[in-house]
Amino acid sequence: MSRSAVRAFAALNAVRPPDQPSPVLGKAVVLGGSVAGLLAARVLSDYAESVLIIDRDDPQISGARPGVPQGTQLHALLPGGLFQLERLFPGFRKQAVAQGAIEAPPATRRSYLDGRLKVVVPDDADSLAGSRPLLEGLIRQHVLRLPNVKTFTARATGLVIEGEAVTGVRCDVGGVPGVEGGDLVVDAMGRSSRLSDWLERAGWERPATRRMPVHLNYATALFRRPEQDPPAKVVLALHTPTTMTDVAGAAFFAIEDGRWMAMMAGYGDDRPGSTAEDFVRRLREQFPPEFGEVTANEMLGDVQTYHHADSRRRDFHALRRCPARLVSVGDAVASFNPVYGQGMTAAALHAVCLSAYLRSDPDLTTPARHFLALQKVVVDAAWSTSTSADLALPHFDGPYPRGYRISSWVSRQIIAATITDVETARRFNDVVSMQEHPLSLATPGVILGAIRANRRAR
Ligand SMILES: Cc1cc2nc3c(=O)[nH]c(=O)nc-3n(C[C@H](O)[C@H](O)[C@H](O)COP(=O)(O)OP(=O)(O)OC[C@H]3O[C@@H](n4cnc5c(N)ncnc54)[C@H](O)[C@@H]3O)c2cc1C
Repeated sequence: MSRSAVRAFAALNAVRPPDQPSPVLGKAVVLGGSVAGLLAARVLSDYAESVLIIDRDDPQISGARPGVPQGTQLHALLPGGLFQLERLFPGFRKQAVAQGAIEAPPATRRSYLDGRLKVVVPDDADSLAGSRPLLEGLIRQHVLRLPNVKTFTARATGLVIEGEAVTGVRCDVGGVPGVEGGDLVVDAMGRSSRLSDWLERAGWERPATRRMPVHLNYATALFRRPEQDPPAKVVLALHTPTTMTDVAGAAFFAIEDGRWMAMMAGYGDDRPGSTAEDFVRRLREQFPPEFGEVTANEMLGDVQTYHHADSRRRDFHALRRCPARLVSVGDAVASFNPVYGQGMTAAALHAVCLSAYLRSDPDLTTPARHFLALQKVVVDAAWSTSTSADLALPHFDGPYPRGYRISSWVSRQIIAATITDVETARRFNDVVSMQEHPLSLATPGVILGAIRANRRAR
């Protein structure tokens, strides 16, 4: 990664939707109607005469649905993602609140690192807390209101490729095969996307897949929330690898319908929260008192668990040969350790890349190299934030990149300084919320500032 990536990342964060739609495509077909597919469809509605979203789940399903098994787990919307959603759907925050999402201004957020309360909470970005189905549902309402966007319930099964370009998609509707033609096909089928297999089957190169094993075990449970306006609405408590017990971290958010959503995570053989008793006991015993207060309320339903084997990315940008009129977005390209909460925000930034690409009057008869180059900037940034932290996980046994000892020492200095130093905390939060590129922390000013802050704190 270079300084030019920092500039490219900043430029992407500044991209606005066009004032007027300017179609350069007839029909665009989006495979997968979850967050990444819906955001891609929103952008495509500006550049295509019509957009068809194909998903195997019926779009009328409300709440958690089979196609998104992670939907029952706690989902944090990073400030960078909220910023992009507000840009794509003006009024998003207000509507989310009207539907029950909870605003969590800085005074109502608490963050603990290794049991120490961070004394500074940068006051430059508010948070919005809501369940994953609420956030996805509101995005869907916005997208399906667009006059040129339609949905179709079917399972996509392959591509139609003619010559050097994709011209459509094969699908299965209740056992009946069909074909949908399109001038651009967008794969948003999530981390289990079969696009690589389809390409290979059709005689094209498959992208290399990189994996970072994380073996993360998530558990989420809902509790009744009697207070309308509790003093702490979003509380996070993380353990760094040196102090990690069998639980790596926990969090709870106030969410819609008078509920708390509480989550706990462990790595490897640590599977916290497989029963309700275990979930409540560990939150009470291993986390600050607020966690005990939340779990004193009635638990609503069962504990929902989820195993996440790895962070993975598919390097479409490195393909020597790929068909024209095809792109991939969201988890289908890169899916990360969920504890960093990057997925939905990364998906929003992929949609921004698509907007920047289609606005550049691209030659659609050739592969979307410009899009892939922009998307690489976003994927590299998110991948570096998540995987560099995960190199320190106890079960990771290498290989470590060159210079790892120094870079991990620097990271530890910066992270420790976020507990007491507002300037370091603000810069760090800008990076983890995907509003700034991670290299913006690698400057002498930031590093020396962190070291000095840690000396003062001692
Ligand atoms: C445990 C966990 C916790 C997470 N927490 C957070 C968080 O706190 N914050 C955050 O931002 N992100 C979080 N994420 C990531 C987040 O869920 C995803 O990044 C986000 O949903 C965007 O994914 P996507 O739209 O690319 O894919 P998905 O949400 O996985 O959706 C894929 C879609 O494709 C459809 N589909 C798949 N195959 C086909 C097919 N053949 N034909 C038709 N349709 C198909 C599916 O039905 C589904 O609708 C978390 C993930 C996990 C696993």
